[in-house]
Amino acid sequence: MTTLTGSCYCQNIKYEVTLNSPDDARTSLCHCRNCKKAFGANYGLTAKIPKDALKITQGKPKGHSADNGSGMVINREFCGNCGSFILEYGEAVKNKFRYIVVGSLDDPEALPPKGEFFCKDRVSWMPEVPSKSTFHADLGT
Ligand SMILES: [Zn+2]
Ligand SMILES: [Zn+2]
Repeated sequence: MTTLTGSCYCQNIKYEVTLNSPDDARTSLCHCRNCKKAFGANYGLTAKIPKDALKITQGKPKGHSADNGSGMVINREFCGNCGSFILEYGEAVKNKFRYIVVGSLDDPEALPPKGEFFCKDRVSWMPEVPSKSTFHADLGT
């Protein structure tokens, strides 16, 4: 078992992720326009984990739900005090998965990326993640 901890910037929200193995998480970059806006950066970085692997141990994140433009409702949760983005999940997989914002983990190197999505929307100055085992997709989920 691996237990990882995370929090928002102001520490009002804290959480734990418990996995059988770190390999059960799928960390990926996403270069799509929605992630750029939601993360306030040139890409989004999340780790997909089973829903039950996540336990919010302190505080209650605020939520925002919206159609991402392709008919898919995305739920995003963040700290209502400091604004840190904590997690997201599509309405279609709400009973199965959570996508943790990797920068909110206390150890940001705990779950290295396995792939990149929407590479066609990658900003021109950013290189690919250099790994033989990392996939690079033009679209994504
Ligand atoms: Zn906070
Ligand atoms: Zn995206």
